[in-house]
Amino acid sequence: MLCLSALSALTSPEQLWRWVERAENDPPATGRSLGLLVCLDCRATVRGVQAAHLRCPRCHAALHERKPHSLALTAVLVASAAVLYIPANLLLS
Ligand SMILES: [Zn+2]
Repeated sequence: MLCLSALSALTSPEQLWRWVERAENDPPATGRSLGLLVCLDCRATVRGVQAAHLRCPRCHAALHERKPHSLALTAVLVASAAVLYIPANLLLS
């Protein structure tokens, strides 16, 4: 609410709508759109072009655009949570 009051005091409604339209037309830059990769071992940010053979220049670990096996890991965690949900709610009551 405070932010809206400050924005309305500093700008006109037409200018606010122009900002909204510009934000809708130009989506925010993401790491993927900028060609950036993050090393999962040392958290170094590397440009995909600079990462020769997709190895981290700092620790030489393999670089991936996405976390490897993330869908399988998520499925296993969801299945485990579903299995553990029942005894967690029945055994303590
Ligand atoms: Zn690294």
